[in-house]
Amino acid sequence: MSDGDRSSPPLIDRQIWIDGEYFPWENATVHVLAHSHQRGSLIFDYMSVHETSRGPAVFRMPEHVDRLLQSAELVGLPLRCDAATIRAAILETVRRNPGARAVKVSAYLASVEVDVVPLDDHVTVAIAAYDPKTDVNAHKPTQPTRPATLKLWIEKTVRNRRKDIVPPQAKVAANYASPMWAKWSARRRGYDEILLVDERGCVAEGPTTNVFLVDSAGTLLTPAEDEVLLGITRLSILEIARSEGIPVKETRVEPDDLFGAAEVFLTGTTAGVWPVASVDDRPVGVPPPGPVARRLGERFRRITAGEDPEFASWLTPLDPS
Ligand code: PMP
Repeated sequence: MSDGDRSSPPLIDRQIWIDGEYFPWENATVHVLAHSHQRGSLIFDYMSVHETSRGPAVFRMPEHVDRLLQSAELVGLPLRCDAATIRAAILETVRRNPGARAVKVSAYLASVEVDVVPLDDHVTVAIAAYDPKTDVNAHKPTQPTRPATLKLWIEKTVRNRRKDIVPPQAKVAANYASPMWAKWSARRRGYDEILLVDERGCVAEGPTTNVFLVDSAGTLLTPAEDEVLLGITRLSILEIARSEGIPVKETRVEPDDLFGAAEVFLTGTTAGVWPVASVDDRPVGVPPPGPVARRLGERFRRITAGEDPEFASWLTPLDPS
């Protein structure tokens, strides 16, 4: 089927902020030959919006915006929009799009370019606030299923990270091409999710998640910062664990460490805290969710619902009163 055969897209009643102006959802488009599309140079960040007793609130917005700026710097995109402008625009965009559950901020070279280095280096910033389930997934021919626990596959071959090209800390479109293929192939073989290894063969992360394990001594371990995207959920789980008195260690993780672990779980904005049942067809740890995943997951849920005074500052309410 060619793109021309597709039926017209459903009308989605959302307003998207692009460089300071609002556009209807269906008009938020770029040219097929745009640099961002052809070279994978788009960077983005993705954060969640929660209903709380103080109204809708964005989870760890300053950290997400700072990570976006960091991605721009790592890729070399000359982003001229500052953090304060982006933060204010996020809140206004969420206000204008009631019921939004997530915000995606993208920054990209919208210009049609011939060379890798663009002649027009204007970086467009776009902010979309929406509900991924009802605005996007509901219109797909197949619906995603979310198993309570995961069957993981360690993808040993695909991610030959080339640190000289794009570091894993950059949330850039290009970084998702090789995990896409690996996850697609693992899905066809009955796995829910994959883990990628670094150039030493150590466990790094999932395509859109970070990984944690609890060792036999009860220490919470996660791969160190140099090999992973610095997940905001990862950061939050490390801080929550410290507050709960759980010892934590950011360290090198070998695949064998997963097989000997008491618990394994993944974290991410969409995943939350997601327990793993098996790795490479071998059951891992106690039957999931294990006690640590349950405890951290429950505390994380309370924090995002605005029910935890210790971490109340992690939520930015739309209405600050
Ligand atoms: N690793 C990668 C490669 C990701 O794309 C994501 C999703 N942003 C994560 C980890 C988890 O990050 P976060 O907790 O900020 O969603």
